[in-house]
Amino acid sequence: MSFDVVFVGGGLGSIFSLYNLIRTADKKNLNICIIDKEISNIPGGVAYGNKLENIGFFNNPCRLSPKELIRWVYKNKVDLINFVENSNSNSFKEWVKRYKLKFLNSKSLKDLDEIYLPRIFCNFWLESLLIKSLKKIKKKNYKILFIQGEAKQIIKKKKYKILIKNPTIFNCDLKQGTIGNQINFIRRIDGQNIEYINAKNILISLGIPEPRQSISKKILSDKFYIHDLYVSGGTKKLIKLINKKKLQKKNVSIHFLGSKAGFLEALPELYFFSKKNNIKIISTSNNAETLNSADISKNNSKYKLNFFSKNNYKKIKNPDDLYKKILEEFSFAESNNYNKYDPWTIILRKNILTKIIKNFDEKDKEIYNNKYFQLIRSKTRFTFPLTVKYKNLLEKYKIIKMIKSSVKSVSQKKDEFIVETKNNKKIKSDILVCVFGPQSVMDLKINDSLFKSLHKLKIEFLNTGIKVNKYFQTVGQNNIYMIGFHANGYNPDRKTIIKAIVENSKFALKSLKNNIVN
Ligand SMILES: Cc1cc2nc3c(=O)[nH]c(=O)nc-3n(C[C@H](O)[C@H](O)[C@H](O)COP(=O)(O)OP(=O)(O)OC[C@H]3O[C@@H](n4cnc5c(N)ncnc54)[C@H](O)[C@@H]3O)c2cc1C
Repeated sequence: MSFDVVFVGGGLGSIFSLYNLIRTADKKNLNICIIDKEISNIPGGVAYGNKLENIGFFNNPCRLSPKELIRWVYKNKVDLINFVENSNSNSFKEWVKRYKLKFLNSKSLKDLDEIYLPRIFCNFWLESLLIKSLKKIKKKNYKILFIQGEAKQIIKKKKYKILIKNPTIFNCDLKQGTIGNQINFIRRIDGQNIEYINAKNILISLGIPEPRQSISKKILSDKFYIHDLYVSGGTKKLIKLINKKKLQKKNVSIHFLGSKAGFLEALPELYFFSKKNNIKIISTSNNAETLNSADISKNNSKYKLNFFSKNNYKKIKNPDDLYKKILEEFSFAESNNYNKYDPWTIILRKNILTKIIKNFDEKDKEIYNNKYFQLIRSKTRFTFPLTVKYKNLLEKYKIIKMIKSSVKSVSQKKDEFIVETKNNKKIKSDILVCVFGPQSVMDLKINDSLFKSLHKLKIEFLNTGIKVNKYFQTVGQNNIYMIGFHANGYNPDRKTIIKAIVENSKFALKSLKNNIVN
């Protein structure tokens, strides 16, 4: 089987790219394939999918989301509210209390600016893009195939050969149903043996890699251990596990390794759960810090940037200075009774980082990507205030304990997990959840066969990601595109990841369309 374009990963990056490709392609014949490890992840991927974690929220407000998504949400707001109201999730009920009126009464996109949406809205939007794409594909007589299976290796003969583990071919049934009930994948049993497929062009968008942290095989396979909370089914899955454990004992302890987004995500539901059940929550991490709550102060409209005013930001000439000035701006804001989030919001809205970075020389751009991007990211990660609110409540009621230390080892004794920390504490728990940060591409180059194969293709790996050009073509293989997390500099201006991927997809398509014709 041979394709003009293969999308590896069937989430946000691939579906948005597919939609724009089909909408604008003028080629006579086009043969497309989408591969995903898990067919039900198409089109929302791991973060926004309907089947996995579907009761979480965006950690950025609408203002920082792609305009295309927000326009769609605005148009469909009545159906979306109905969907949320009919759900039995406690977090959604809280969301309705907080935002329903503002959401329904909005008169323009601007009125949605400060709202944090349920992430599943993004799945519905992607569903609508996939449906439009499929209709166009039919009209233009193009072909598309969906394969469930893990892309394990890419080899280059004349074309690329993608090796797939346990492939199954799916057909897609188009239904003009209601939101959340539109797409149905039907397995086609035609006995075709497709251990591999051929591709002229490949676009790779695989989401966030699973956490680093070496855990023994025995623990990895324990049903009370969750290695990748989102891929395993998110908060819903965790609550199921707690209920299972409760059949054996009354007080269940849950230990999170890490304290950032993955930890916060589960807390609203765990808070409501803790009202009727005895649970204890522990979080161990290097700094015991969670993400900052994205709270704008009441008088934020009066805030005037100090170090990032037009006259001053032009004086910022290198990444180190940029980093220091961000910290100074935050201190300045706080000492004047504003929140850190006030200046950060203005900096983002005015695209000030982009303007500053544009003026760095090539060497400083590299230094920024390799070192300062991460430093700045760690100081400027803000999240949905509701999740932080529930963390604070759980702390107040002494249900959560935050431990500041790194993890030395993880072992198991009978039915308990034992985490030993660098400062020699031994922490026991019934359930263990790993929410540490993701593996880097350098880890993947060693641990993951797909990335090993990319390395063999002479694609360049940097500490901060795979080297790509401005069209997101991998340097070394012009017909392989990477637009997401794995690409070096995929989000240099600290846009939100979702926005960065959507923008990167548009650049990649400019080049991909040429490659398809030639
Ligand atoms: C829980 C969660 C919440 C997030 N929240 C936000 C947010 O609020 N704001 C924001 O800006 N960003 C957020 N992100 C980050 C980012 O926006 C999403 O990860 C986004 O979906 C990435 O798009 P993608 O196309 O690269 O990957 P995805 O949409 O995740 O799609 C990748 C797909 O590839 C499949 N796959 C992986 N490996 C293989 C393989 N070898 N072979 C075949 N298929 C494979 C996966 O099954 C998955 O379905 C979040 C991420 C997560 C995980």
